Amino acid sequence: MINQEDGPLKMYFSILEGKRQPNYLKCKSIPVDIALNSSEEELWKEHDDKMNGFYRNHRCEEVKTSLLDLKIEIAKRMVMHCSFCERKCRVNRMEGERGHCSVLKSRIASDFIHWGEEPEIVPSYTIFFSGCTFNCVYCQNWDISQNPHAGKYIKPQILAEMIGAKIARNVNWVGGDPTPNLGYILDVLRHCQVNLPQVWNSNMYLTKESMKLLKGTMDVYLTDFKYGNDDCAKRLSNAGNYWEIITRNHMISSEQGEMIIRHLVLPNHLECCSKPILQWISKNLKNVKVNVMAQYRPEHKAFEYDDLKHRLKYEEFLKAYRFAEALKLDLTE
Ligand code: SF4
Repeated sequence: MINQEDGPLKMYFSILEGKRQPNYLKCKSIPVDIALNSSEEELWKEHDDKMNGFYRNHRCEEVKTSLLDLKIEIAKRMVMHCSFCERKCRVNRMEGERGHCSVLKSRIASDFIHWGEEPEIVPSYTIFFSGCTFNCVYCQNWDISQNPHAGKYIKPQILAEMIGAKIARNVNWVGGDPTPNLGYILDVLRHCQVNLPQVWNSNMYLTKESMKLLKGTMDVYLTDFKYGNDDCAKRLSNAGNYWEIITRNHMISSEQGEMIIRHLVLPNHLECCSKPILQWISKNLKNVKVNVMAQYRPEHKAFEYDDLKHRLKYEEFLKAYRFAEALKLDLTE
């Protein structure tokens, strides 16, 4: 049995033991002093004021308008000039304008109890959204990530009921990527009451504003740190300015939640990606779990890329794993 008393997921385990609330429940019990029809600028000001005191103790109470309601209202405004992710398409998705991810209303491709995640988080009630902010040429879920029409819309209150009926250790928001669905996810949480940690399972290409909305609602950031430089990110995921955005959001996540960082070792990317990522984590983040993953297999368009068209060799994975061990990273089992 792992001793979790002082580990990287200490808060997560104390929620599971019933010793503390998940962040989103706390967020529902903090009142805000603003009319929700105020300007977006005024809403943000009130939001930031209230978030300043978020981690202080306070009385849990029934409130008329909560901090979570305020976050939902801000997300509704953001979707009208969509800037949930760093592509900043500025389209009005409410009016049917599609941005890079093409997501309009949130659609859920599948939901199930996942037993294949890290030991700390299984069983995990995993909700897969269709659509993604990235276009990874080797995506293993490309049929849903690159097809925003996959799956179906589920009313937030119905999904909240589905969450309440599941036996799991957490709710795991993923895709594709959950980022285009941030407003919808907050709306689902408004209807939830379960004492379950919320897991944000993402490529972390969010804007600073989206990161602020996540603060106080998510408990664990399960991040997918893919590339050690901008060239590989642009060539293989069509994502610009990757390193600056992803390292920034990892720093923010470490301040506002607990973290499990995943790194899928890609064939032929040990020097350019795996090593710089693992070194950066070792230098900049304390008390995080790291999962160095071996399960790369060529999928989708990977066969068109010389570096990615073959499976990962065991020796190559071992080099990445040994490198992480030498850095004394806290590796998942
Ligand atoms: S979430 Fe989609 S529409 Fe919004 S900024 Fe990102 S890619 Fe564009």
